Amino acid sequence: MAQAPVTECFSSIQGEGILVGLRQIFLRLAGCNLDCSYCDTAGVHEVPELCQLEMTPGRRDFVTLTNPVQGEQVISHIRRWAEAWPAIHHSISVTGGEPLLHGKALLEWLPELHEILPVHLETNGTLPEALAPLIDYVDYVAMDFKLPSASGVNPVWEKHEAFLALAARKQAYVKLVVDDSTQNWEIERSCSMIAAVDRNIPLILQPVTRADGTVSLSPLRTLELQEFADAKLREVRVIPQTHKFMGQL
Ligand code: SF4
Repeated sequence: MAQAPVTECFSSIQGEGILVGLRQIFLRLAGCNLDCSYCDTAGVHEVPELCQLEMTPGRRDFVTLTNPVQGEQVISHIRRWAEAWPAIHHSISVTGGEPLLHGKALLEWLPELHEILPVHLETNGTLPEALAPLIDYVDYVAMDFKLPSASGVNPVWEKHEAFLALAARKQAYVKLVVDDSTQNWEIERSCSMIAAVDRNIPLILQPVTRADGTVSLSPLRTLELQEFADAKLREVRVIPQTHKFMGQL
């Protein structure tokens, strides 16, 4: 089975998006194709020499594996957890960095993981060609639209558009990381793109969240941005990164 660089594998509470609060197994792959100004993943562009692998769900008793990790090692570990603690986890969150950079390995890993638990893919939504062969093995797609203002990333609207068209075949939602620099036109353009696919796709407005849980978006502006989005979409939620103020990984 193919190998891939894995930063860590652990059990925790999902802190973002429509599955917020649910317990998941997190499989974090290394590397990213973007460079967002608010990125909170340390060393996101480096492949760590070692992968941190939690032995007991939620007990932080990590051991290390050498990268790249063999698919069999990760999958047998997650299968063992699902058998020994069958009621704990709602799903497996495949995250990064940008996990779709490792599409070739995921083509072998996801069919196996999908048999163990539902798969929740967390992605920056810029690699539609990598998603296409994997979509059948994914249950939930949490994708970003990168707003140039808050992220500092060059516009990638066409990539997001192609990605969402594929992701919408499953339970998909779009996340916009917003702050006081966010422009009204960015919200309107994002909502138009979502509505063109399906206006029932949930939109999450996620204020940039500092480590102490405070956010970089004023209360009044939060309400204004939600109103712009509500004019075009059925379900617009404002959810900060809750794991930060709970002290969860
Ligand atoms: S896409 Fe995500 S992981 Fe990559 S740089 Fe941006 S915030 Fe960090």
